[in-house]
Amino acid sequence: MTELKGAWQKTGIETSTTIQTLESTVSSLRARIHFLESGSQAQSDSFADMESRLQEAIRSAEISKQKLVKEESLRRILFNQVQELKGNIRVMCRVRPIFNSEESQVAKLKYPDTDKESKELEILGKEEKSSLGNVTRKAHSFSFDRVFAPESTNEEVFGEISQLVQSATDGYNVCIFCYGQTGSGKTHTMSSSDGMIPRATHQIYETATNLQEKGWTYTMEGSFVEVYNEEIHDLLGNSKDFDKKKHEVRHDEQKKQTIVTGLRSVSLDSPNAVESILKQADANRSVAATKSNERSSRSHSVFMLKLVGRNSVTNETSEGTLNLVDLAGSERLKQSGAEGDRMKETQNINKSLSCLGDVIGALGQGKDGGHIPYRNSKLTYLLQYSLGGNSKTLMFVMASPLEAHLSETLTSLKFATKVHNTHIGTAKKSTKVRERSSDA
Ligand code: ADP
Ligand code: MG
Repeated sequence: MTELKGAWQKTGIETSTTIQTLESTVSSLRARIHFLESGSQAQSDSFADMESRLQEAIRSAEISKQKLVKEESLRRILFNQVQELKGNIRVMCRVRPIFNSEESQVAKLKYPDTDKESKELEILGKEEKSSLGNVTRKAHSFSFDRVFAPESTNEEVFGEISQLVQSATDGYNVCIFCYGQTGSGKTHTMSSSDGMIPRATHQIYETATNLQEKGWTYTMEGSFVEVYNEEIHDLLGNSKDFDKKKHEVRHDEQKKQTIVTGLRSVSLDSPNAVESILKQADANRSVAATKSNERSSRSHSVFMLKLVGRNSVTNETSEGTLNLVDLAGSERLKQSGAEGDRMKETQNINKSLSCLGDVIGALGQGKDGGHIPYRNSKLTYLLQYSLGGNSKTLMFVMASPLEAHLSETLTSLKFATKVHNTHIGTAKKSTKVRERSSDA
């Protein structure tokens, strides 16, 4: 009996110990639950905090993006106003370097303001004998929007036109011409490996890439034609068809767009696509003539880059064209001496260059909207929508530094001066802009 009682008591003690242990476990678990619960509260508090900060960041990023898009639109407007103030027709002159073998034959050319604005060029004319036997030389002074001396590089030249190239990305039609006698540096300036065509294409490609974050997507299509004897040849077409296939210029009056039938255009989806275009054009020219250099000086070549941009945020669209034109040599070939094919070539070159001058002249007299003789040559007809209206034109007049070329140089510079005077006609427009802003 006593044994049984002892066992009972023992069990009782053990049970109460177990209960105590369990109770303390329960309370420690409760404490733990409490701890965990309060922890998850803190966590969820911090989650909520993070969530709201994230939303805030997204909102402010969205606001910044909208601001960026708005600023881009504003930049386009202001940029175009600056371009207009500079005039919609600009003329720049570039004198090519003197090569080693030519050092004894250099004409007297001076660049009086190279350390300031670089707009002036002075040339001493040919020696003239008076009736008394005195030898004199007449000094000719010219002034353009910019004069590039022989040591200038293609990089510097591009620096002056990069803004116009930008205008094409903004939806304007831009024409850049190289005018001058054969050997004066037109092709070097336009299509050498670091010339205006590759530089412009690379810049446009870069701009289009950067504009992506502002909501813009661009497509860029390049084509390259030659205007030879008033006919259009596709420099990017099949070499077998070159010189045979006929291409017509068609205008869409409503959309103000030009289409050349059967023309191949190449999508410029990589910055290096332009190099292969230039190579192909050269190859096609050499099919047409044993000396492709000669062919290229007897024809105009026109590189056309169509730029279509769309903004997914603002729904804006922009459509611009950049035309880079390497004109046929401007040297006056004596028509009397030339025969047959050569005669025909000469007449066509003379006609189309003087027609270009007439078109620019008519535009300068404010005849825009009235009669502009675009139809008088294939070149001006092709470029109709890129000359005049809201488009921008730049002419490079190229000059040789040699005494032997003096009279051609003077003729070129006089032609360029006439074009440059047209500038004043357009500058009126800029006065209006100023008046308007002072009224406001
Ligand atoms: P054009 O196209 O007017 O007939 P080119 O561009 O072919 O003349 O130039 C004639 C030659 O002079 C070419 O060999 C060309 O490389 C060279 N040349 C022209 N301008 C420059 C220049 N600024 N720097 C170096 N070489 C030049
Ligand atoms: Mg050339």
